[in-house]
Amino acid sequence: METIVLGSSEGELRHAAELIRAGEVVGIPTETVYGLAANAFDAAAVEKIFRAKGRPSDNPLIVHIADFSAVYEIASEIPPLAKKLSEAFWPGPLTMIMPKSPKIPLITSGGLDTVGIRMPSHPAAKRLIELCGVPLAAPSANLSGSPSPTTAQRVFEDMNGRIPAIIDGGESDVGVESTVIAFEDNGVRILRPGGITREMLLTVAKSVTVDPGVLNELSEGAVARSPGMKYKHYAPKAQVILIKGESGAYREYVLKNACAGDFCLVFEKGEAAPDLPYLCYGATPGEQAHRLFECLRRLDELGAKRVFARCPSPEGVGLAVYNRILRASGFCVIDLEVD
Ligand code: AMP
Ligand code: MG
Repeated sequence: METIVLGSSEGELRHAAELIRAGEVVGIPTETVYGLAANAFDAAAVEKIFRAKGRPSDNPLIVHIADFSAVYEIASEIPPLAKKLSEAFWPGPLTMIMPKSPKIPLITSGGLDTVGIRMPSHPAAKRLIELCGVPLAAPSANLSGSPSPTTAQRVFEDMNGRIPAIIDGGESDVGVESTVIAFEDNGVRILRPGGITREMLLTVAKSVTVDPGVLNELSEGAVARSPGMKYKHYAPKAQVILIKGESGAYREYVLKNACAGDFCLVFEKGEAAPDLPYLCYGATPGEQAHRLFECLRRLDELGAKRVFARCPSPEGVGLAVYNRILRASGFCVIDLEVD
Protein backbone atom coordinates (compact mmCIF):
# COMPACT_ATOMS: atom_id res chain seq x y z
CA MET A 1 0.00 0.00 0.00
CA GLU A 2 1.27 3.46 -0.86
CA THR A 3 1.10 6.00 1.99
CA ILE A 4 0.34 9.55 0.91
CA VAL A 5 1.02 12.64 3.01
CA LEU A 6 -1.78 15.19 2.88
CA GLY A 7 -1.82 18.79 4.07
CA SER A 8 -4.61 20.06 6.29
CA SER A 9 -6.65 22.07 3.77
CA GLU A 10 -10.43 21.54 3.80
CA GLY A 11 -10.21 19.47 0.59
CA GLU A 12 -7.46 17.23 1.97
CA LEU A 13 -9.33 16.75 5.25
CA ARG A 14 -12.42 15.77 3.23
CA HIS A 15 -10.36 13.18 1.39
CA ALA A 16 -9.06 11.79 4.70
CA ALA A 17 -12.61 11.72 6.11
CA GLU A 18 -13.76 9.67 3.08
CA LEU A 19 -10.99 7.14 3.75
CA ILE A 20 -12.01 6.88 7.41
CA ARG A 21 -15.70 6.56 6.56
CA ALA A 22 -14.74 3.73 4.19
CA GLY A 23 -13.13 1.84 7.10
CA GLU A 24 -9.51 2.95 6.62
CA VAL A 25 -6.88 4.20 9.06
CA VAL A 26 -5.35 7.69 8.71
CA GLY A 27 -2.42 9.28 10.59
CA ILE A 28 -3.60 12.52 12.17
CA PRO A 29 -2.02 15.46 13.97
CA THR A 30 -3.15 16.32 17.49
CA GLU A 31 -1.74 18.75 20.06
CA THR A 32 -0.31 15.84 22.12
CA VAL A 33 1.31 13.50 19.55
CA TYR A 34 0.24 12.15 16.15
CA GLY A 35 -2.48 9.50 16.21
CA LEU A 36 -3.66 6.61 14.01
CA ALA A 37 -7.37 7.22 13.55
CA ALA A 38 -10.29 5.01 12.53
CA ASN A 39 -14.05 4.98 13.10
CA ALA A 40 -14.39 4.04 16.79
CA PHE A 41 -17.72 2.26 16.14
CA ASP A 42 -16.31 0.06 13.35
CA ALA A 43 -14.60 -3.04 14.81
CA ALA A 44 -13.00 -4.02 11.47
CA ALA A 45 -11.50 -0.55 11.01
CA VAL A 46 -10.19 -0.50 14.59
CA GLU A 47 -8.64 -3.93 14.04
CA LYS A 48 -6.54 -2.32 11.27
CA ILE A 49 -5.09 0.15 13.80
CA PHE A 50 -3.92 -2.71 16.04
CA ARG A 51 -2.38 -4.44 13.01
CA ALA A 52 -0.63 -1.31 11.70
CA LYS A 53 0.95 -0.62 15.11
CA GLY A 54 1.58 -4.21 16.20
CA ARG A 55 -0.29 -3.25 19.36
CA PRO A 56 -1.34 -5.89 21.94
CA SER A 57 -5.11 -6.32 21.78
CA ASP A 58 -5.63 -5.67 25.52
CA ASN A 59 -4.23 -2.13 25.23
CA PRO A 60 -7.30 0.14 24.84
CA LEU A 61 -7.61 3.04 22.39
CA ILE A 62 -8.76 6.55 23.24
CA VAL A 63 -11.90 7.77 21.49
CA HIS A 64 -11.64 11.30 20.07
CA ILE A 65 -14.63 13.63 19.70
CA ALA A 66 -15.24 17.17 18.45
CA ASP A 67 -18.34 18.02 20.50
CA PHE A 68 -19.41 17.12 24.03
CA SER A 69 -22.72 15.71 22.80
CA ALA A 70 -20.79 12.71 21.39
CA VAL A 71 -20.05 11.57 24.96
CA TYR A 72 -23.71 10.52 25.32
CA GLU A 73 -23.24 8.02 22.47
CA ILE A 74 -19.91 6.65 23.72
CA ALA A 75 -20.37 6.49 27.50
CA SER A 76 -23.23 4.75 29.29
CA GLU A 77 -22.82 6.88 32.40
CA ILE A 78 -21.29 10.35 32.72
CA PRO A 79 -19.99 11.40 36.17
CA PRO A 80 -21.06 15.01 36.97
CA LEU A 81 -17.38 15.85 37.53
CA ALA A 82 -16.63 14.80 33.92
CA LYS A 83 -18.88 17.57 32.64
CA LYS A 84 -17.12 20.14 34.86
CA LEU A 85 -13.67 18.95 33.81
CA SER A 86 -14.67 19.05 30.15
CA GLU A 87 -15.76 22.67 30.57
CA ALA A 88 -12.36 23.52 32.05
CA PHE A 89 -10.02 21.43 29.89
CA TRP A 90 -11.70 20.40 26.61
CA PRO A 91 -10.68 20.77 23.91
CA GLY A 92 -7.27 19.76 25.25
CA PRO A 93 -4.95 16.94 26.37
CA LEU A 94 -7.27 15.29 28.93
CA THR A 95 -8.71 11.76 28.54
CA MET A 96 -11.53 10.76 30.89
CA ILE A 97 -12.44 7.12 31.49
CA MET A 98 -16.13 6.32 31.77
CA PRO A 99 -18.30 3.19 31.50
CA LYS A 100 -18.66 2.42 27.79
CA SER A 101 -21.88 2.28 25.82
CA PRO A 102 -22.68 -0.87 23.81
CA LYS A 103 -21.98 1.13 20.61
CA ILE A 104 -18.25 1.00 21.36
CA PRO A 105 -16.95 -2.43 20.29
CA LEU A 106 -14.77 -4.31 22.78
CA ILE A 107 -11.81 -4.17 20.40
CA THR A 108 -11.77 -0.34 20.81
CA SER A 109 -11.74 -0.57 24.62
CA GLY A 110 -9.17 -3.39 24.70
CA GLY A 111 -11.81 -5.72 26.17
CA LEU A 112 -12.64 -3.37 29.06
CA ASP A 113 -16.15 -2.20 29.97
CA THR A 114 -14.83 1.38 30.15
CA VAL A 115 -13.70 3.80 27.47
CA GLY A 116 -11.27 6.73 27.43
CA ILE A 117 -12.68 9.87 25.77
CA ARG A 118 -10.86 13.02 24.69
CA MET A 119 -11.60 16.17 22.68
CA PRO A 120 -8.40 17.31 20.91
CA SER A 121 -7.75 21.00 20.34
CA HIS A 122 -5.68 20.70 17.15
CA PRO A 123 -7.81 22.43 14.47
CA ALA A 124 -7.16 19.75 11.81
CA ALA A 125 -8.11 16.95 14.22
CA LYS A 126 -11.27 18.78 15.25
CA ARG A 127 -12.31 19.46 11.67
CA LEU A 128 -11.55 15.90 10.56
CA ILE A 129 -13.73 14.44 13.34
CA GLU A 130 -16.58 16.78 12.31
CA LEU A 131 -16.21 15.72 8.66
CA CYS A 132 -16.18 12.02 9.58
CA GLY A 133 -19.37 12.39 11.62
CA VAL A 134 -18.21 9.57 13.92
CA PRO A 135 -15.85 9.50 16.92
CA LEU A 136 -12.30 8.44 16.08
CA ALA A 137 -10.41 5.76 17.98
CA ALA A 138 -6.78 6.83 17.88
CA PRO A 139 -3.67 5.60 19.68
CA SER A 140 -0.29 7.22 19.12
CA ALA A 141 0.93 6.70 15.54
CA ASN A 142 4.18 4.87 16.35
CA LEU A 143 4.96 1.19 15.98
CA SER A 144 4.09 -0.36 19.32
CA GLY A 145 6.87 0.17 21.87
CA SER A 146 8.76 2.96 20.11
CA PRO A 147 8.65 6.68 20.96
CA SER A 148 5.45 8.48 19.91
CA PRO A 149 5.74 10.63 16.77
CA THR A 150 5.38 14.40 17.01
CA THR A 151 5.68 15.14 13.27
CA ALA A 152 4.12 13.70 10.10
CA GLN A 153 7.61 12.69 8.94
CA ARG A 154 8.09 10.44 12.00
CA VAL A 155 4.65 8.87 11.39
CA PHE A 156 5.70 8.22 7.79
CA GLU A 157 8.88 6.47 8.94
CA ASP A 158 6.87 4.03 11.12
CA MET A 159 3.74 3.67 8.99
CA ASN A 160 4.89 3.88 5.36
CA GLY A 161 3.13 1.05 3.50
CA ARG A 162 0.87 0.23 6.45
CA ILE A 163 -1.81 2.96 6.14
CA PRO A 164 -3.17 4.86 3.13
CA ALA A 165 -2.66 8.46 4.34
CA ILE A 166 -1.16 10.81 6.91
CA ILE A 167 -2.31 14.39 7.50
CA ASP A 168 0.55 16.81 8.12
CA GLY A 169 -0.55 19.38 10.69
CA GLY A 170 2.89 20.55 11.83
CA GLU A 171 4.77 19.70 15.02
CA SER A 172 2.64 18.55 17.97
CA ASP A 173 2.45 21.32 20.52
CA VAL A 174 2.52 19.45 23.83
CA GLY A 175 4.71 16.56 22.68
CA VAL A 176 3.59 13.91 25.20
CA GLU A 177 0.31 11.97 25.22
CA SER A 178 -2.81 13.13 27.05
CA THR A 179 -3.38 12.96 30.79
CA VAL A 180 -5.58 9.89 31.46
CA ILE A 181 -7.88 10.06 34.49
CA ALA A 182 -10.38 7.71 36.11
CA PHE A 183 -13.14 8.86 38.47
CA GLU A 184 -13.28 7.75 42.09
CA ASP A 185 -15.35 8.62 45.17
CA ASN A 186 -14.24 12.15 45.77
CA GLY A 187 -12.35 13.12 42.69
CA VAL A 188 -10.02 11.66 40.10
CA ARG A 189 -7.00 9.39 39.79
CA ILE A 190 -4.24 10.14 37.26
CA LEU A 191 -3.44 6.89 35.46
CA ARG A 192 -1.11 8.57 32.97
CA PRO A 193 0.28 12.10 33.45
CA GLY A 194 0.20 14.53 30.52
CA GLY A 195 -0.33 18.15 29.52
CA ILE A 196 -3.20 18.70 31.99
CA THR A 197 -1.34 18.62 35.29
CA ARG A 198 -2.35 17.52 38.79
CA GLU A 199 -2.34 21.19 39.85
CA MET A 200 -4.70 22.10 36.99
CA LEU A 201 -7.09 19.24 37.83
CA LEU A 202 -7.14 20.37 41.47
CA THR A 203 -8.72 23.67 40.40
CA VAL A 204 -11.86 21.65 39.51
CA ALA A 205 -11.70 18.30 41.37
CA LYS A 206 -11.64 18.04 45.19
CA SER A 207 -9.08 15.28 45.20
CA VAL A 208 -6.49 14.20 42.65
CA THR A 209 -4.52 11.02 43.32
CA VAL A 210 -1.51 10.00 41.25
CA ASP A 211 -1.75 6.26 40.61
CA PRO A 212 1.33 4.37 41.90
CA GLY A 213 1.73 2.95 38.36
CA VAL A 214 2.81 6.41 37.16
CA LEU A 215 6.16 6.31 38.93
CA ASN A 216 6.67 2.66 39.78
CA GLU A 217 7.29 -0.48 37.83
CA LEU A 218 4.33 -2.82 37.97
CA SER A 219 5.10 -5.91 40.03
CA GLU A 220 4.77 -9.26 38.31
CA GLY A 221 1.14 -10.38 37.97
CA ALA A 222 -0.32 -7.02 39.12
CA VAL A 223 -3.26 -5.61 37.13
CA ALA A 224 -2.52 -2.27 35.44
CA ARG A 225 -5.22 0.37 35.91
CA SER A 226 -3.92 1.91 32.72
CA PRO A 227 -3.04 -1.05 30.49
CA GLY A 228 -0.55 0.94 28.39
CA MET A 229 1.66 1.35 31.46
CA LYS A 230 2.53 -2.32 31.68
CA TYR A 231 4.28 -2.47 28.33
CA LYS A 232 7.84 -1.45 27.58
CA HIS A 233 7.12 1.90 26.13
CA TYR A 234 8.54 4.96 24.45
CA ALA A 235 11.86 3.17 24.20
CA PRO A 236 14.57 3.95 21.67
CA LYS A 237 16.94 1.15 20.64
CA ALA A 238 19.64 2.75 22.76
CA GLN A 239 19.92 1.87 26.43
CA VAL A 240 18.86 4.95 28.43
CA ILE A 241 20.29 5.51 31.91
CA LEU A 242 18.49 8.17 33.89
CA ILE A 243 20.78 10.16 36.18
CA LYS A 244 19.16 11.98 39.10
CA GLY A 245 21.27 14.84 40.46
CA GLU A 246 22.58 18.36 39.96
CA SER A 247 24.42 19.22 36.74
CA GLY A 248 27.87 19.10 38.44
CA ALA A 249 27.25 15.63 39.88
CA TYR A 250 25.84 14.49 36.52
CA ARG A 251 28.97 15.57 34.63
CA GLU A 252 31.26 13.98 37.17
CA TYR A 253 29.36 10.69 36.98
CA VAL A 254 29.31 10.65 33.20
CA LEU A 255 33.03 11.54 32.97
CA LYS A 256 33.83 8.59 35.22
CA ASN A 257 31.55 6.05 33.54
CA ALA A 258 31.14 6.89 29.85
CA CYS A 259 32.99 5.21 27.00
CA ALA A 260 33.44 6.31 23.39
CA GLY A 261 30.10 6.09 21.54
CA ASP A 262 27.97 6.98 24.56
CA PHE A 263 25.66 9.98 24.32
CA CYS A 264 24.45 12.62 26.77
CA LEU A 265 20.83 13.77 26.87
CA VAL A 266 20.86 17.01 28.84
CA PHE A 267 18.60 19.98 29.48
CA GLU A 268 20.95 22.63 28.08
CA LYS A 269 24.21 22.98 26.21
CA GLY A 270 27.16 23.02 28.60
CA GLU A 271 25.86 20.24 30.87
CA ALA A 272 27.19 17.38 28.76
CA ALA A 273 30.52 15.74 29.55
CA PRO A 274 33.35 17.06 27.33
CA ASP A 275 34.06 15.02 24.17
CA LEU A 276 30.78 13.11 24.29
CA PRO A 277 28.08 13.76 21.69
CA TYR A 278 24.91 15.19 23.19
CA LEU A 279 21.34 16.34 22.56
CA CYS A 280 19.44 18.95 24.59
CA TYR A 281 15.81 18.35 25.42
CA GLY A 282 15.04 21.67 27.05
CA ALA A 283 15.41 23.76 30.18
CA THR A 284 11.73 23.87 31.20
CA PRO A 285 9.23 21.02 31.68
CA GLY A 286 7.20 22.38 28.73
CA GLU A 287 10.20 22.32 26.38
CA GLN A 288 11.22 18.90 27.64
CA ALA A 289 7.73 17.53 26.92
CA HIS A 290 7.79 19.11 23.47
CA ARG A 291 11.20 17.65 22.53
CA LEU A 292 11.62 14.37 24.43
CA PHE A 293 10.23 11.91 21.87
CA GLU A 294 11.99 13.61 18.98
CA CYS A 295 15.29 13.41 20.91
CA LEU A 296 14.75 9.69 21.59
CA ARG A 297 14.17 9.05 17.89
CA ARG A 298 17.15 11.21 16.91
CA LEU A 299 19.42 9.27 19.27
CA ASP A 300 18.59 6.08 17.37
CA GLU A 301 19.32 7.79 14.07
CA LEU A 302 22.69 8.88 15.42
CA GLY A 303 23.46 5.28 16.34
CA ALA A 304 23.58 5.82 20.10
CA LYS A 305 24.09 2.58 22.01
CA ARG A 306 23.96 4.05 25.51
CA VAL A 307 22.54 7.38 26.66
CA PHE A 308 23.15 9.14 29.97
CA ALA A 309 20.04 11.29 30.45
CA ARG A 310 19.57 14.05 33.00
CA CYS A 311 16.48 13.31 35.05
CA PRO A 312 13.68 15.90 34.72
CA SER A 313 11.99 17.46 37.74
CA PRO A 314 8.52 15.92 38.20
CA GLU A 315 6.76 19.27 38.63
CA GLY A 316 3.78 20.27 36.48
CA VAL A 317 4.02 18.71 33.01
CA GLY A 318 7.45 17.47 34.18
CA LEU A 319 5.62 14.53 35.82
CA ALA A 320 4.62 13.37 32.32
CA VAL A 321 8.19 13.84 31.04
CA TYR A 322 9.55 11.88 34.00
CA ASN A 323 6.96 9.12 33.51
CA ARG A 324 7.90 8.69 29.83
CA ILE A 325 11.68 8.85 30.21
CA LEU A 326 11.49 6.46 33.17
CA ARG A 327 9.78 3.91 30.91
CA ALA A 328 12.16 4.68 28.03
CA SER A 329 14.98 3.75 30.43
CA GLY A 330 13.23 0.57 31.55
CA PHE A 331 13.32 2.04 35.10
CA CYS A 332 17.13 2.29 35.06
CA VAL A 333 17.78 5.20 37.43
CA ILE A 334 21.02 6.19 39.11
CA ASP A 335 20.29 8.46 42.04
CA LEU A 336 23.30 10.66 42.86
CA GLU A 337 21.28 12.46 45.53
CA VAL A 338 21.27 9.56 48.01
CA ASP A 339 24.45 9.21 50.05
P1 AMP B 1 -2.09 5.71 23.40
O1 AMP B 1 -3.31 5.97 22.60
O2 AMP B 1 -1.03 4.96 22.69
O3 AMP B 1 -1.61 6.97 24.01
O4 AMP B 1 -2.59 4.77 24.57
C1 AMP B 1 -3.79 5.04 25.24
C2 AMP B 1 -3.63 4.66 26.67
O5 AMP B 1 -4.73 5.20 27.41
C3 AMP B 1 -3.72 3.16 26.92
O6 AMP B 1 -2.48 2.53 26.79
C4 AMP B 1 -4.21 3.10 28.35
O7 AMP B 1 -3.11 3.14 29.23
C5 AMP B 1 -5.06 4.36 28.48
N1 AMP B 1 -6.48 4.00 28.38
C6 AMP B 1 -7.30 4.12 27.31
N2 AMP B 1 -8.53 3.64 27.59
C7 AMP B 1 -8.50 3.22 28.85
C8 AMP B 1 -9.45 2.60 29.73
N3 AMP B 1 -10.69 2.34 29.33
N4 AMP B 1 -9.05 2.28 30.97
C9 AMP B 1 -7.78 2.54 31.39
N5 AMP B 1 -6.84 3.11 30.61
C10 AMP B 1 -7.18 3.45 29.37
MG1 MG C 1 1.11 5.09 22.60
